[in-house]
Amino acid sequence: MKITSAEFVMSNSNVTKAPKDRIPEYAFIGRSNVGKSSLINMLMERKDLAKTSGKPGKTQLINHFKINDEWFLVDLPGYGYAQVSKKKRQIFQFFIENYFKEREQLVCTFVLIDSRHDPQKIDLEFMQFLGENQIPFCIVFTKADKLGSSKLNKQITTYKKKLLNYWEELPMSFVTSSSTGMGRDEFLNFIEQVNED
Ligand code: GDP
Repeated sequence: MKITSAEFVMSNSNVTKAPKDRIPEYAFIGRSNVGKSSLINMLMERKDLAKTSGKPGKTQLINHFKINDEWFLVDLPGYGYAQVSKKKRQIFQFFIENYFKEREQLVCTFVLIDSRHDPQKIDLEFMQFLGENQIPFCIVFTKADKLGSSKLNKQITTYKKKLLNYWEELPMSFVTSSSTGMGRDEFLNFIEQVNED
């Protein structure tokens, strides 16, 4: 897929105020600092469409972008940032939960995982939540350039094996790097195919 336009539409903390257009929607989420903004910018070939978070956990909004006038890309807040107070985190979880439960246009959620990290409780719990609510998701391994190729393959194989302790089937996954553009074509082709179905 060629990206011909990528426009910011709106930010809000209430799913009922999200754009009404009935076009396919794809959400991006992951732990703070996982490389979400960088990935979105890399995919869209824009420098600062998604704001890279100088202060993780600060931008706690649902951000809608319209891509090619055909689909929505949604940048969701990063989760699991230790310095956000417990009360604030609960509120955050509530509106994010609502987003996932209410947003009928949502086609697929991309759960971002740092390629260097082993499965973390918060990510596993989040995938569990998606599964329980029948929300389709893919895993996107980020920052692949930070590991050499054999280490990267080993790490991803180990990650998937561990996931099989929790899931009968593995979700689809992508391996990406915002620095090198790795994974961009596969990722955009996937969205294009799903949009066509
Ligand atoms: P976010 O908080 O998930 O939006 O993460 P950011 O996109 O702001 O990235 C967090 C940090 O990781 C920044 O310092 C980025 O430059 C760095 N980073 C993000 N993606 C990559 C990547 O693919 N490769 C490398 N080497 N660094 C990355």
